[in-house]
Amino acid sequence: MNKILDSFNLKKQADQLGVSVWRSPGFLFILLGVVIIAAMLAVYFVSRNSDSVEYLLGSEFALVIVLLVVGNSIINGINEIARANKIKTEFISIASHQLKTPLSEINWELELLSGKFADGLNEKQKELLKNVNVSNCKMIRLVNDLLDVARIDQGKLPLVSEEIDLIEMIKEVIENNKNLASSRNVKIKTRSYVQVPKIVGDRKRLLVVLDNLISNSIKYNSKKGRVDVAITPEKERVIICVKDNGVGIPKNQRKNIFSKFFRSDNVIKNQTEGTGLGLYIAKNIVLQSGGDMWFDSEEGEGSTFCFSLPLEENERYGLSD
Ligand code: ADP
Repeated sequence: MNKILDSFNLKKQADQLGVSVWRSPGFLFILLGVVIIAAMLAVYFVSRNSDSVEYLLGSEFALVIVLLVVGNSIINGINEIARANKIKTEFISIASHQLKTPLSEINWELELLSGKFADGLNEKQKELLKNVNVSNCKMIRLVNDLLDVARIDQGKLPLVSEEIDLIEMIKEVIENNKNLASSRNVKIKTRSYVQVPKIVGDRKRLLVVLDNLISNSIKYNSKKGRVDVAITPEKERVIICVKDNGVGIPKNQRKNIFSKFFRSDNVIKNQTEGTGLGLYIAKNIVLQSGGDMWFDSEEGEGSTFCFSLPLEENERYGLSD
């Protein structure tokens, strides 16, 4: 119901798209409907009240002109939205590139200051330097994420192809998240995984995907939380699932989970840090690698995020369908 009411709120729609009300799709749609009805009625009355063929042709010609004008207006509106979107993506890309160099310099100088030139610094000063370094690393991560988002939106996310041992990759990401897990009292179940064939993909990018799912399953977990990472080979693909018994995702927000900058209400109050970019980037990396990503979740009970990756033709299992 709210969705239907929202589609008639032309001002809200125009504000969301950053265009004037008369250029919003809702307004143009209504205008088109009104014009078509008025034109049909006009042609009907003209044809009823006049036997003149010229008259009829004239009114049909006028109708075509009006439809062309309205159609042109709709196309201009769509162009304007597409242009605004392109400018926004380019802005994010340029701003992130410009920010990356000074942030990397700060990182380099902080390393020198807390390493080679640390003599003479007292404990308080060292602690402050450490805090500055942590914040700087967060900014570098955010800038890198924004750059990836811009690359995805421009269809220019480069992926390399190399052979990957998925089990070794899972173990590496679990190891990297050990400190985060123990700081939150979350247990990651250790498994002896069945052997799966090697796949071909971009190792660095797929590490990002797995790290996002595993770190989320720790961050959005509850006290005495558990995380289980499973890998299942199928005939033509391999599926990796990360299951947690954490806070879950509210039903009405599940459709937005893979959208840019989206964070669900139930995590924002406890987990103030987060950009809502991780899953958007992760899903796009997986899609571009020929796989898919999906999830299942129940608020208060937990979530399971899965993704699939295709097996190379010669690595496919001889399993029956
Ligand atoms: P971030 O973690 O920086 O907020 P993500 O894109 O990784 O960004 O996740 C987007 C949102 O999806 C999170 O803010 C959270 O609301 C929800 N989410 C992701 N993973 C989980 C999970 N395992 N359990 C519950 N909610 C999750």
